[in-house]
Amino acid sequence: MDPIEIADWGRIAGEKIYLYTLTNKNGTKVSVSNIGAAIQSVWVKDKKGLWDDVVLGYGTVEGYLSDPFYIGTVVGRYANRIAGGNVDIDGKAYQLTVKEGGFHHHGGREGFNKKAWKSVPFVKNGESGVVFSLLSPDGDEGFPGNLDVKLKYTLTDQNQIVIDFFAETDKNTLVNLTQHAYFNLSGHAKGSILNHELIINADQYLPVNQIIVPEGALTHVADTPFDFRKAKPIGKEIGLDNEQLNLGAGYDHSWVLKTNRSQNLLFAAKAFEPESGRSLSVYTTEPAVHLYTGNFLDGSIKGKHKVAYNHREGFCLETQNYPDSPNKPHFPSSILKAGEIYQSKTIFEFGTV
Ligand code: BGC
Repeated sequence: MDPIEIADWGRIAGEKIYLYTLTNKNGTKVSVSNIGAAIQSVWVKDKKGLWDDVVLGYGTVEGYLSDPFYIGTVVGRYANRIAGGNVDIDGKAYQLTVKEGGFHHHGGREGFNKKAWKSVPFVKNGESGVVFSLLSPDGDEGFPGNLDVKLKYTLTDQNQIVIDFFAETDKNTLVNLTQHAYFNLSGHAKGSILNHELIINADQYLPVNQIIVPEGALTHVADTPFDFRKAKPIGKEIGLDNEQLNLGAGYDHSWVLKTNRSQNLLFAAKAFEPESGRSLSVYTTEPAVHLYTGNFLDGSIKGKHKVAYNHREGFCLETQNYPDSPNKPHFPSSILKAGEIYQSKTIFEFGTV
């Protein structure tokens, strides 16, 4: 079978939009599109050998253009929140676009998730993938510097989606890129994710304030609902009357994997769904993993096959730097200097238990 099938999805801003479907030797299929560099579908087997599509997504390019939830796309230049949206780089103040509530969010008014990226599919050593690229101009959403972004998705025969980000700038700027897939290991149309068991490989998390921005403390997870060091269902404590869960309307928090931006790849998290037996392991070079439990999904949008995605019917494990790092000197820096290369790797590995 051809490892890459290409479907024409029309044209946006002069750029042709494609849906690329990658297939590995196990029959696992991953579809990605250059609209928002989205992961649109992931077909994997369960423990009985039955297939389902385990990510939320849209069936058309229009779905991605009108999406308010960043479903499956790449978020940038700065994923997550920056309080006030005014940042200081080399002593110069920059005002980033802000949302109601007064914070910069997920790249601004029109972030990387809405862009038509350039795309080049490849097959190498029996593995297939696509390289997406984007030029974000100097001043885009208030960020300084022309930023040249590259993203490589590779589907391996170990049922991994390997995500490699690279970026370069001509002026010192901020970069924090993430993949915003919403997973439902039962299947994207199968309802709540609260029965999924989750492990997060972290002793500390970042408590948030009223606008879901970290307060600044790195807090131990022991004796809190944020302790996922041993597997427990996502829904086990999500409904507790806990100040942090109330502020996030559920889990919408970052866990600390490391305190620097080194390039070593760490095990971040593993989710598994007991009925299907499907599992997802996440590895990353990023300092944090942000668990978002689909708290704001409200059935208002229709995804693939006209499925309405409701409250907590998908969860994200967004690998990234700590949110609000530009305002928190003790957090790992998100500054990319001119002439340096931003690099980040994340692996989503699917299996059964
Ligand atoms: C954020 C949530 C937000 C969601 C969709 C997540 O990454 O942490 O607060 O509602 O994305 O925008």
